[in-house]
Amino acid sequence: MSSRHDLSVGPNPSPSPSDGVQHVCTICQAKESSHKHVFDTAKALSSHCRVKHAVRNDMRRYVGTSKCCSVCETTFGSRLSLIQHLSDSRRPKCRDVLLATASPISDELCTQLDELDKVARRTAQQKGYSHARVSVPAQRVALCEA
Ligand SMILES: [Zn+2]
Ligand SMILES: [Zn+2]
Repeated sequence: MSSRHDLSVGPNPSPSPSDGVQHVCTICQAKESSHKHVFDTAKALSSHCRVKHAVRNDMRRYVGTSKCCSVCETTFGSRLSLIQHLSDSRRPKCRDVLLATASPISDELCTQLDELDKVARRTAQQKGYSHARVSVPAQRVALCEA
């Protein structure tokens, strides 16, 4: 009855690179460079990484010593809060922009910062806050002061 020839619904075997940013799984690519692991969205890539590679939260790889989100210019109280902000699935904009523009920090720095965060989290727990219970909404504390 109705012509819907302008809608191409169905699997697209070759995602067009002209659509913009390509989201490539670098983990798969490293293992199997002959096969392309490209996803349409950062969301698709991150859920692939969660399922296939048990990657919990790779946004920490994009957060260095700064507590300021370079995308929305919001400063957070701690690195963990910034990571939480960037991992918020309801507001993927900052994450998407960051993933497209930023480069990950070094393994060494990431390990160092994770250690600091571990200490900070433990201190917070001793004060009676549990990481699971505390879900502080991201507050606009101040704009970035570089
Ligand atoms: Zn993969
Ligand atoms: Zn942001």
